[in-house]
Amino acid sequence: MPIPALFLDRDGVIIENRPNYVRSWADVAIFPQAIAALAKIQHLPIKIIMVTNQSAVGRGIVSLETVQMVNDRLLAEIERGNGRVDAVYLCPHAPDDQCRCRKPMPGLLQQAAREHDIDLSQSVMIGDALTDLAAGQAAGVRQVILLRTGRGEAQMAMPEVVGLRPFAMHDTLADALSAVFGSD
Ligand SMILES: [Zn+2]
Repeated sequence: MPIPALFLDRDGVIIENRPNYVRSWADVAIFPQAIAALAKIQHLPIKIIMVTNQSAVGRGIVSLETVQMVNDRLLAEIERGNGRVDAVYLCPHAPDDQCRCRKPMPGLLQQAAREHDIDLSQSVMIGDALTDLAAGQAAGVRQVILLRTGRGEAQMAMPEVVGLRPFAMHDTLADALSAVFGSD
């Protein structure tokens, strides 16, 4: 039976966004509330999937291997905090590559759904950018949520906001997960 997923963006959601990209582990600043919140939902019968645009790879700023190393280490930190992330899907392309996986395209979510037997119509996407919400809505998820961490607050001023169906906003990942799963 297909099961629901929680799709999470990485930068601005689990770790701090960096204007000049996360280029190495030294650039990673984990949100402690995010780690604690992931621990509270680890027992739920859902897949927890990280979906992240990493155009720094396509731009030649950082290698794919480095991005994967950073992700592996982040997942290890989440597990050390008693949480879990079941899989990571990343788009390594630059905007000009016209790929089908870079959010706001739904490709990463669709690939994850195929490979993990996910029921998109029962799933949730949480991000700090309108492109995260657009990807979730294009994939047909039940609910999309914008966080005020990372770029979230500034995103509300962007014209693309009018093209989105209604969505919720929360201050942090912890607040969003409490609202969705009642995990407090
Ligand atoms: Zn891509």
